[in-house]
Amino acid sequence: MEIFVSSRNKKEKCFAKEAIIQGLAKDGGLFTPLDIEKRKIDIKKFMNLSYQEIAYIIFSTFFDDFSEQEMKEIIHRAYDKNFSVKDVVNLSKIGKSYMLELYHGPTAAFKDLALTVLPQLLKTAYKDENKKVYILTATSGDTGKAALEGFKNVENTFITVFYPNKGVSLIQEKQMKTTVGKNVEVIAINGNFDDCQSLVKKCYEQIKVEHVQLSSANSINIGRLVPQIVYYFKAYVDLVKNNEITLGEKVNFVVPTGNFGNILAGYFAKLLGCPIDKLICASNKNNILTDFIRTGIYDRNRAFHNTISPSMDILVSSNLERLLFILSDYDDEKVSKYMKELREEGRYIIDKELLEKIQQHFLAFCCDEENCKKTIKEAYEKDKRLIDPHTAIAYYASKQYEGEIKNVILSTASPYKFSNSVLEAINSEKRENEFVAMCELKKITAEEIPANLRLIEALPDLHNRSIDIEDGIKVVLERIEKLK
Ligand SMILES: *Cc1c(COP(=O)(O)O)cnc(C)c1O
Repeated sequence: MEIFVSSRNKKEKCFAKEAIIQGLAKDGGLFTPLDIEKRKIDIKKFMNLSYQEIAYIIFSTFFDDFSEQEMKEIIHRAYDKNFSVKDVVNLSKIGKSYMLELYHGPTAAFKDLALTVLPQLLKTAYKDENKKVYILTATSGDTGKAALEGFKNVENTFITVFYPNKGVSLIQEKQMKTTVGKNVEVIAINGNFDDCQSLVKKCYEQIKVEHVQLSSANSINIGRLVPQIVYYFKAYVDLVKNNEITLGEKVNFVVPTGNFGNILAGYFAKLLGCPIDKLICASNKNNILTDFIRTGIYDRNRAFHNTISPSMDILVSSNLERLLFILSDYDDEKVSKYMKELREEGRYIIDKELLEKIQQHFLAFCCDEENCKKTIKEAYEKDKRLIDPHTAIAYYASKQYEGEIKNVILSTASPYKFSNSVLEAINSEKRENEFVAMCELKKITAEEIPANLRLIEALPDLHNRSIDIEDGIKVVLERIEKLK
């Protein structure tokens, strides 16, 4: 059976179900599978399979303590009805590159691909326990709503989402605030995403309770990461089927990156045998990852910027820890040392050997606000495509690295989720609110407004609480009391 170990202590290990239930290892490390490359899959096997069938093979590779019947049930529940395109995701062309559209799910962002699955995995893994699972989630905008939708009314669970006050788009905020469900709670934190994420991690480290099991819906949970591997293979297979590439030909994937979850899933896909040349890490003005991948110095002692791509406004990219762990040949001591330095000094410098290994697989580019808007405008005018600000960051990066090898850009959100920013980029004019902007955008494009976004304007706000960071733990403890 597949073993998962903590990135900070290999002796702390468990099977998939336990790793999913716990979310984060007790020592603060991230559960990571060992020897991924030994599980190589022959991509020919995928050529005639549906999204769900590919998902089944990938999921079973890592989560082998679920029965075949359990896994098939989970996959059908997640993917059969929740997505508005036949194949769950859609591959299209943009300029000289391809665009993998990952925003056709219930909340119009790529987080849906994993967060329709995670609650099912957790529920199944946990079905024999009589304790409640309490899911703490930090969001930079999109994870929150996707997690709320996935977990609402799931028995024996309760979910609290923390988001940065003024750090998410108005539509993202409205989506979260209007969520109905007896086991959901949304709280604004007077701080940024890193504050939300560190609050959640602190809760794991400090709160020890018997009657409630804490877990996470963030991509620190391995149950979030594995489902994201599937669409890399699906995109590759579609390129071959559409005669855009020949089987075995390498492609690059360009990924708009924040917490390093999505792009890490791409690296897992590469290890499993997906013919990927480079994974291109695209950052916005918060370009800490660009600096890191180019120099090996991770330094968070820098200004935090609120941008029009808020889901990437992050300075501490959690999943990088898993990459360091894997590429250092699972050196838990080294990873612990770097993470300690990050906690205490806000920076660490990796050794040359590790940096070279990272650079074999990853390239990095960043895009400032001006270029982001320019890219949205150009995509609209030249390529006749409406793209959201996150996708634009990736498209900009893609244009910096065009060559023989074809680029696939991961499009992570519907442009309608950021209507005013997109409209402003195209027309130089904002509207009085997001919903007016949404209708305005509709007039200039063939792309439909996702139903879930069109309908929220009329819904009442149900969650209006905001708190200071220092009160976070107290608020969580009060909730735990109520869950008894
Ligand atoms: C979360 C998110 C990202 C960043 O993904 P990570 O896995 O955190 O790197 C990019 N774009 C959008 C729209 C997102 O919601």
